[in-house]
Amino acid sequence: MTITVSHLVKSFSPGARVVDDVSFAIQPGEMFFLLGPSGCGKTTVLRMLAGFIRPDGGDILFDQRRLNDVPPQHRNTAMVFQNYAVWPHLSVYDNIAYGPRTRKLNADSVHRRVTEALRIVRLENLGPRKPAELSGGQQQRVALARALAVEPDLILLDEPLSNLDARLRLELRGELQRIHRETKTTCLYVTHDQEEALSLADRIAVMNRGKIEQIGPPAEIYERPANEFTARFMGEINIIEPDSSLARQLNVPPGKKVAFRPEAAELAGDGIDIVVQRTVYLGSKVELLVKTSSNQELKLWSREMPAPGEPVRFHVPRARLIFL
Ligand code: ATP
Repeated sequence: MTITVSHLVKSFSPGARVVDDVSFAIQPGEMFFLLGPSGCGKTTVLRMLAGFIRPDGGDILFDQRRLNDVPPQHRNTAMVFQNYAVWPHLSVYDNIAYGPRTRKLNADSVHRRVTEALRIVRLENLGPRKPAELSGGQQQRVALARALAVEPDLILLDEPLSNLDARLRLELRGELQRIHRETKTTCLYVTHDQEEALSLADRIAVMNRGKIEQIGPPAEIYERPANEFTARFMGEINIIEPDSSLARQLNVPPGKKVAFRPEAAELAGDGIDIVVQRTVYLGSKVELLVKTSSNQELKLWSREMPAPGEPVRFHVPRARLIFL
């Protein structure tokens, strides 16, 4: 099923659009991300897709069917939240069976769906347990199994990994990828975590102040950001003012603004003169804070660890310059 959001608008107070003319289409089986800073309106878009909030303008289409006025329970969607939202008084099995039961499936079908969902999230043996007897990661797997068991047209995931510690977050991220590959369920995933989006998404829509800045596959968003907001939001970046002496040294055409990421710089004997100000050892790399002869500060990543005060040279391969 193709999910189309077209010119969606929402305000909670007059004149302040929280969602301001947002359009995108999620392809069948796609893992689509809405990525943006806190307060940019991404959860509001997700809640409009779920049916909890009514749009002021625009359309929500599941294939050709317009869903703007269809209540949540009549949309075939499922949600996975940050705080698990599994029912504490129900067993894992009954938590997962709840959706299929409310859809009036017979007992055999319910059992088949629950068993299959438990298999997919690898909790086969934990059906009888209560959520309190599970770890946070396991509870989130239950939430996921509960979503899968209703065989939804669309799963809406709202910061589903945010409550987990760093190790579990990584583990479950891998699991989400595996499960999505196996089930090919269409997903809309909302987060402010760039790494999560880059590692899991088929495509990312970057959102800022109620608007979409750019839509594209992860590598395109990271390596070819369309504007300064996306460039900065997706990771560390050095932005070079047009016509500055550094711009000239990088052979940037007049009037053009370019940027480059710290990993794009290479220390080289015949490059641009810089002086190392500070180094930070980060294990897999060394972060160099440097100054050019025109006093522009830059951040570069290197494997070498020159001493502070040491003059070195760097260059950036042409292909790795980002034109903004
Ligand atoms: P976060 O990552 O912090 O959840 P977000 O990008 O998901 O942020 P939203 O939750 O969509 O952002 O909120 C966008 C803006 O709309 C915020 O300024 C928020 O305070 C406001 N807002 C959200 N829901 C309501 C509501 N029901 N009533 C009034 N204002 C709201």
